[in-house]
Amino acid sequence: MTPESRAAEFDAADPLAGYRDRFTLPEGVIYLDGNSLGALPKATPAAMAQVVEQEWGEGLIRSWNSAGWFEAAGRVGAKIAPLVGAAPHEVIACDSTSVNLFKLIAAALAMRPGRKVVLSEPGNFPTDIYMIAGLEAQGLAERRLAQRDRLAAALDGDVALLMLTHVHYKAGALHDMAALTRAAHEAGALVLWDLSHSTGALPVELNAVGADFAVGCGYKYLCGGPGAPAFAFVAERHHADLAQPLTGWFGHAAPFAFSDDYTGAHGIDRLQCGTPPVLGLAALEVGVDLIAEIGVDRLYAKSQALSEFFLECLMAHGVDLELVSPPKSTERGSQLSFRHPEAYAICQALIARGVIGDFRAPDVLRLGFAPAYLSFADIADAARHLADVLASGEWEREEFQERAAVT
Ligand SMILES: *Cc1c(COP(=O)(O)O)cnc(C)c1O
Repeated sequence: MTPESRAAEFDAADPLAGYRDRFTLPEGVIYLDGNSLGALPKATPAAMAQVVEQEWGEGLIRSWNSAGWFEAAGRVGAKIAPLVGAAPHEVIACDSTSVNLFKLIAAALAMRPGRKVVLSEPGNFPTDIYMIAGLEAQGLAERRLAQRDRLAAALDGDVALLMLTHVHYKAGALHDMAALTRAAHEAGALVLWDLSHSTGALPVELNAVGADFAVGCGYKYLCGGPGAPAFAFVAERHHADLAQPLTGWFGHAAPFAFSDDYTGAHGIDRLQCGTPPVLGLAALEVGVDLIAEIGVDRLYAKSQALSEFFLECLMAHGVDLELVSPPKSTERGSQLSFRHPEAYAICQALIARGVIGDFRAPDVLRLGFAPAYLSFADIADAARHLADVLASGEWEREEFQERAAVT
């Protein structure tokens, strides 16, 4: 059987096949970059127009109350909560992932006086590691990086916080959240999980594993749009002691009392800083609603089937690329990454054929399998294009070698 006829059988049996029509995808494009910028839900433009034209245009400032703007950050956070195994009052949609990392790293350090070390791994997503640097420059933190198989051994009495990304952005490898959270707690440290490449693609159980803090991205699998607000999780047991350094008025217990003194709000609202991005939250809410409607368990099952099928197609075409991701689907997120010295040019040649994946320096071709809107036919086509690009050597063309600023 050809990959194409196998794909047709899988698509006919796919319970999520109908959801593709809930997204806008350009004609002739196979989108394998939904792990970097999720596709546009068809409902988003109308929802945005409603907020802009009615709530802003007509309601003006009254909409803070009448249109629920004031509660939007908490409302969207509560909708994200079940996707990550948290209670509704433990999650808020606010700021960027980077800013949320900063607030929570600082909060964790404040909860572990006498300890300064923030432990992470080399090759973690850059912003996660960079956000330690500012606190380090102020003498508040000390960075320690240990390879993944050495993390448990690096957890000594100086470690205040273990901070890791659940699904590695480049390789797609998964950390064992339960085991590492337990090891950190046994060493007296707190744990912060970055769920940017997990949320909306695979099940996460923050409370079941006993996580302390988490952050995640709104514009990847949650389809919130470019620069969508991120989210932050703080386990309820830490709410009373939570001290975060960005003490803006929206995190105040009574922002409209206009007092000269800062009193943090109760609970997760204390993580807010300034005025929330209402337009961004409106777009994010549409994406979150749609992903929640499809359901994380079904999304995860399909994401595994898609990546397994892609590998099967490559095999059928006789393509032999070095797989950087774990070969077992249970040990990776919703992506496959391959190493090739010409990964950049291969990626460009694929994009010219309408197969949009991405390149991660220095030599990784990364293909994301966003399960909400990809079909098995897309996977078969993408694999055929990749096989053709490699066999024809078309990636050697000069136009595919020129580097753009954003890859
Ligand atoms: C995408 C991503 C981010 C993004 O951070 P921003 O502040 O939105 O730029 C952070 N961490 C990880 C692991 C990511 O994958």
